[in-house]
Amino acid sequence: MTYQFGVSYFSNRMPEHFVKDLEEMRKKGCNQLLLTFSENDREFYKETIREFVALAHEYEMKVALGPWGVGGVFGGEAYSNYAAQYYEHRQLLNNDDRPPSACLNNPHFRDFFSEWFKDAIDCGTDAIFYDEPHFFLPGWNNLYAADDASVWGCCCRYCRERFETMYGKSMPDSETDEVKTFKREMILDFLKFASCKIKKVKAEVETQVCLITDEQFLQTDIADRLAQIPELDNVGTDPYWGFKTGKELEDYLSNEFTQACKILSEVQQKYQKTTHLWIKNFLVKSGTEDAIKKAVDIAVAHDIRSILAWSYQGTRYMKIRCDDPDLVWETLTERFQHYLLK
Ligand SMILES: [Zn+2]
Repeated sequence: MTYQFGVSYFSNRMPEHFVKDLEEMRKKGCNQLLLTFSENDREFYKETIREFVALAHEYEMKVALGPWGVGGVFGGEAYSNYAAQYYEHRQLLNNDDRPPSACLNNPHFRDFFSEWFKDAIDCGTDAIFYDEPHFFLPGWNNLYAADDASVWGCCCRYCRERFETMYGKSMPDSETDEVKTFKREMILDFLKFASCKIKKVKAEVETQVCLITDEQFLQTDIADRLAQIPELDNVGTDPYWGFKTGKELEDYLSNEFTQACKILSEVQQKYQKTTHLWIKNFLVKSGTEDAIKKAVDIAVAHDIRSILAWSYQGTRYMKIRCDDPDLVWETLTERFQHYLLK
């Protein structure tokens, strides 16, 4: 039984330091790596990223590049120059405001994203990783002040046109169930669009998606639908447990976390797709590190063979660091090594 274990890696762009980290990762059982490739990376560090990919390959690591914060439609703390530059291509909210997030249905953004993944492929990556593609979420990422749950998007002209095509009527003013279904379909449509184009650019590049483990993932058929996109190779999710502790954390692991693993496991069996799961290795509170061990064990027990943590060394270098990054890193990689030796 082969496992793929890994972490996300960002912040450092100096190859000599990266090599030391690659040695540490390999020593601790990692054999895959997600490198963030933000708009800033693409503009100023593309050649360095190409070098990073080559170095990771020398260490026999599989590499995925992720659009960290690209367009403000993917997860990640990176800012989007696209959203800053193209106000008219941002999503349109029901309060007529435009948050710093592009619209997945906007053809201009789709062209921009196509240029992004062509550059990522040009860097030699093995996989393209769509990280948490989403429509506007109130209060998410500190990028937009509104945390009023009644604020929603997108109502731009492209979304309105597509809604009309889908339902044969105008988009309503409130976020009805039909609107929610529409947005879900448009996430699928975007992923299909991008994956088809990626396969045309380079067929061997693996396409991977991680959806936020929200109600949509846990309670709708979106994982099933993703798995039915032939050009999408790998389906995953990230059941992070927030700041839960004690019984609340235990409950999360045995309910939502386990449910997410079950969904992936079913997708794997039904559609013969590969799957992956993310483990929380940021903002882990002191005394809750054991949840990492349990989380890896639950995932493996559900036959998930690709497991990654966000991020390297308990995210020690960033504001979202764990209380005890060393313990988090040791706990995680002890499990990696345990299963690799089995
Ligand atoms: Zn729109």
